[in-house]
Amino acid sequence: MVHLLIVEDDPTIRTPLIRALRERGHAVAAAHTAMSGLQTALDERPDLVVLDLGLPDLDGIELLRMLRAVSPVPVIIATARDDEAEIVRGLDAGADDYVVKPFTAAQLDARVRAVLRRGSANSQEAPAATVVGDLRIDPGTREASLAGTVLDLTPREFDLLHHLAGRAGQVVTKRELLTEVWQVPYGSADKTVDVHLSWLRRKLGESAQQPRYLHTVRGVGVQLSAPADPS
Ligand code: CA
Repeated sequence: MVHLLIVEDDPTIRTPLIRALRERGHAVAAAHTAMSGLQTALDERPDLVVLDLGLPDLDGIELLRMLRAVSPVPVIIATARDDEAEIVRGLDAGADDYVVKPFTAAQLDARVRAVLRRGSANSQEAPAATVVGDLRIDPGTREASLAGTVLDLTPREFDLLHHLAGRAGQVVTKRELLTEVWQVPYGSADKTVDVHLSWLRRKLGESAQQPRYLHTVRGVGVQLSAPADPS
């Protein structure tokens, strides 16, 4: 059974919609205002939210932004026909789909099923492992191995290796590593990258003098690439 939350202030839309969706086998909760909708979404954790944009206390897009900050729940916007700019704003703010009023329960139901299908396809899709030579980096399990032996990496070392492997064969600058892996602005902290690279080298069983996978490009950055003779 799918748990739906309808956020809609107009009872002439809300009441028949709730009835029709229940007849289709869904569990339906409803809220009349944006703030009670947010509260219900957090309390009841519905599988999907149907969100009206014209609400008495707050714009539906504002509610969507607040919801997106705390929950990945799929959202379908229900809006009046002449609201194309609103539809775009809604999709930009993180809505998964929209229906244009007046809509039938059958149409909404089909869109609900389509959105939920997409969601479950995404969540079942494990992130692919990256393989470079004998190195295998699996972001799903956050495990890296070299020639079948699991490497004992800290979370930061894993992220660093994963980022470099994703750009294998290219020179990655320290600036990029700081902003992408450490998520800090480039500055005096670039020694941090050097230190972590040297730890990573040691765990890969190599040195800056005799690199196999991690090649320093002086003054530019670092490049991860498979050695010509992996093992
Ligand atoms: Ca309304």
